[in-house]
Parts: sequence; C-alpha cells; structure tokens
Amino acid sequence: MELHLKDKTVLVTAASMGIGRAVAELFIKEGCKVAICSRNKENLLKTAQEIKSLYDIEPLWLICDINKAAEIENAVNVVRHNYGDIDILVNNCGGPMPGFFEDLADEHWQDAYEQVLMSTVRFSRLVLPGMKSKNWGRIINITSLAVKQPVDNLILSNSLRSGVTAFAKTLSNHVGKYNITVNNVAPGYTLTSRLYELAVTRAKHSGESHEHVLALMANDVPVKRLARPDEIASLVVYLASELAAYITGSTIAIDGGIIKSTY
Ligand code: NAD
Repeated sequence: MELHLKDKTVLVTAASMGIGRAVAELFIKEGCKVAICSRNKENLLKTAQEIKSLYDIEPLWLICDINKAAEIENAVNVVRHNYGDIDILVNNCGGPMPGFFEDLADEHWQDAYEQVLMSTVRFSRLVLPGMKSKNWGRIINITSLAVKQPVDNLILSNSLRSGVTAFAKTLSNHVGKYNITVNNVAPGYTLTSRLYELAVTRAKHSGESHEHVLALMANDVPVKRLARPDEIASLVVYLASELAAYITGSTIAIDGGIIKSTY
C-alpha cells in the first residue's frame, strides 16, 4: 500500500520510548524526516542510536520538556531550521500522574493541564502556519481509551484528555479547508513502561503482584492480550497518509475491543 509519506517532515513529541518511539520508527521506515523530543537526554540518545542501527537513519533528537512553552517553541524552531516546516505533528505526552480525586492537589492538576492539553495546543499553534502555507498537514494526538471509558484511578488523564478530544474536533473544523486533518488515536492497554508503572501502582493498592495485575488487564481485553506499541503506530501512520485524507475530527480507539460502548 503506497502511503505517500516519503520526505514528509514529522515531529513526534515525548518519543524517547513507548508509543512515541514506535511511531517515530514507523515514520522513519516510510522514508520521512523524523524529529523526536523528550525530557531525558540519555533515553533520547539511546533511542536515536538504536533507530540508526536498525534503519541506518538517525532521527533528529531534541531535549524538550513539553510542560514548558519556551522549550516547545525552541524544539519547533530547531526542527524547522534542520528540516523545514513540519508536515506531520504527533502530539504524544507522558501519562499524567495516576491517582484518585482525594490524592491530587492543585499542582498535580496544573501539571497535567500543561502536559496533556497545553502541550497539544502549543505545538499545534506553532506548526499550523507552515501547514497552511503548504495547504497540507496532519495533527494526530495520542489520547487514551479513557476518553471513551474513564479509568478509575486516572482522574487526571480522564479529564484532560477529554479537553484534547474537544480541542481536536474544534480545530479540525477550522483547518479542513487547508487539507489539514486533526485526529486522536486512543490506545487501549499497551505494553510500555507507562503501563508497567500503572500496574505497579495498582498492585500497591490491591496487595497483588504487578504481574498479576498485568495478566488481569490482558484478560479483560476481548482479544486477551495487551497491545504492542507498533500496533498503535500503524494507525498513526495511516492517519498521516494520503489514504486517510477524508478522516478528520475523529477519535479512533485501538483497544482490542475493551471499550464497552458501541461508538
Ligand atoms: P511511556 O511512559 O512509555 O513514554 C512516555 C514518553 O514521554 C517518554 O519518552 C518520556 O520521556 C516522555 N515524557 C514524559 N514527560 C515528558 C515531558 N514533560 N516532556 C517531554 N517528554 C516527556 O508512555 P506510553 O505508554 O508510550 O504512553 C504514551 C501516551 O499514551 C501517554 O500519554 C499515555 O498516558 C497514553 N496511553 C498509554 C496507554 C498504555 O497502555 N501504554 C494506554 C492509553 C493511553
């Protein structure tokens, strides 16, 4: 299947590991010019080198705390300087702190707001002028099954990602005329360090082992397993392609069927 992505400039945020990294790898395989950013230099460097050894192409890597407006602006400027205007923006972020309502203070809410919603708003604002001038662009936000089915101890994620969902839908209405699509990909349980940490937290509350918690999670999924990060990446890359030009404003779950609702 020809995706027509060769030489597109892609920025994947929060991409030193997990889903973000898998997305970056798949865009590299498609012949894109890929930039990745995250906070942790060691992880970024390791990821960039591993990707280079796999595909003989090193992604442009940038240290950027996506909770900080100035660092976001700097990251976008560096990508532009090296590769030109960004064609495809994948707004990924670290998962906000797990916890129940009583566990969380204002500072935790503020932090999650910056990380989940404002990072999406800020990156999108900075890339849109370039996309409009090319009359083509893709913005894809990684959200969560939590937007369709809130997860009990993830009140920050449940709340802020609904904001991203509404933001994307509204923005898609405004930019469709420039051939820019804006969509959300909502992963289900995907085996990354984030899921591992959630399982450890849940295990502390329930007194079970985290291995048992992970096995219970997999058992809850109709397909009886956790997702692999590359499975989430496949959907992201498809949405970025020319084949998906008529999909916009959508939230597409990739969840092994765990979401119980019919839409
Ligand atoms: P992960 O923990 O494996 O990776 C998160 C990445 O974000 C890392 O590269 C980390 O360095 C980076 N990061 C964290 N905070 C950052 C910051 N302030 N600035 C820059 N980079 C930062 O996570 P993952 O499992 O790949 O999940 C990615 C996203 O998908 C998260 O938002 C997560 O909540 C969501 N999600 C994951 C699952 C799952 O089961 N793994 C399910 C639903 C939704």
